[in-house]
Amino acid sequence: MSQDPYELLGVARDADADTIKKAYRKLARQLHPDVNPDEESQERFKQVTAAYEVLSDPQKRAAFDRGGDAFGGFGGQGAGFSFTDIMDAFFGGQGGGGGGGGRGPRPRVRRGQDALIRIEVDLAEAAFGVARELKVDTAVRCTACDGEGAAPGSHPVPCETCRGAGEVAHVQRSFLGEIRTLRPCAACRGFGSVIPDPCRECAGDGRVRSRRTLTVKIPAGVDTGTRVQLSEQGEVGPGGGPAGDLYVEIQVAPHPTFSRHGNDLHCTVSVPMTAGALGTTISLPTLEADLPDVEESGLETAFDLPIPAGTQSGQEVLLRGRGVPGLRGGRGDLIVNIAVETPTRLDPRQEELLRELAAIRGEEQPTGDVRPAHKSVFGRLRDAFTTH
Ligand SMILES: [Zn+2]
Ligand SMILES: [Zn+2]
Repeated sequence: MSQDPYELLGVARDADADTIKKAYRKLARQLHPDVNPDEESQERFKQVTAAYEVLSDPQKRAAFDRGGDAFGGFGGQGAGFSFTDIMDAFFGGQGGGGGGGGRGPRPRVRRGQDALIRIEVDLAEAAFGVARELKVDTAVRCTACDGEGAAPGSHPVPCETCRGAGEVAHVQRSFLGEIRTLRPCAACRGFGSVIPDPCRECAGDGRVRSRRTLTVKIPAGVDTGTRVQLSEQGEVGPGGGPAGDLYVEIQVAPHPTFSRHGNDLHCTVSVPMTAGALGTTISLPTLEADLPDVEESGLETAFDLPIPAGTQSGQEVLLRGRGVPGLRGGRGDLIVNIAVETPTRLDPRQEELLRELAAIRGEEQPTGDVRPAHKSVFGRLRDAFTTH
């Protein structure tokens, strides 16, 4: 076995740093354990790496050139950069995730998955927030084995098939020659260890399913599709690993009176023709009226909406701040659409009165006022009756 780093890398005594680096890179690619896991290649891989460690460090290289022992004095601990540093520099590092294949045993303990639950809330709950009790069915850590998966008193042992590597070399002959790949070890399913006596509670998984109740606080202003995140309330991972998150997705139930557009509420109020003409005041329920504790909290359950004389059907009234609170503060508006209803079933007396009114107003033979489709009167009136 050659102890000369120049010979190991196959470079001349006066090779520059770049040539040395290239030579090492070429050899490392051929001998890398991912490509050639046999022992001879691995041994050579270690040698050329040690040789590179010497020749890529000007001080160590000079020491060797002066006649020192290439590896004796320098290969040990605390000598500059480590084996892993070199590996990372050439193979992209990140804990060996790069180069393809050869990732070592996969961990038994992993983070659990996120879970999603959908719940329906009513509009007032969505608007003002609510605390809800949820029954969730997720995996929790097995208490019998504390997540380890081994029966109490026993522990996982290294896999004999792969000697703990979690993977085995597989050789395939093809017309191109031998193709060598690494495959997860079937004996240990890639874990590198086996559980000889699995926990009876969790069958070795380290977690069991459990139904539990938890309280979720739904903030004011949520809407259909909003997801409330509960950290680490999702599934516990394999091997009792950290739990994922639980997401609670909100579905807002339709409201009998109000429809919601963003943070604004809309409703329609019908008034008889006479009220539209003469003006009136009607009482509108607030959204707060739906809250269960509205009486104790002293919140307004209704408010007066004046309908001025001469109100037309289709007019809209904007009431500032009577909509839904925003998730980030502020509050939307309530837009009330007024529908003036024409009476239908008239008795003789009513008809007589209306005919008389028409005569007085000169409306017995109306010609109709034909014009382009009119714009919403909303803009004109939007601030006329705002309450805030
Ligand atoms: Zn268990
Ligand atoms: Zn194995």
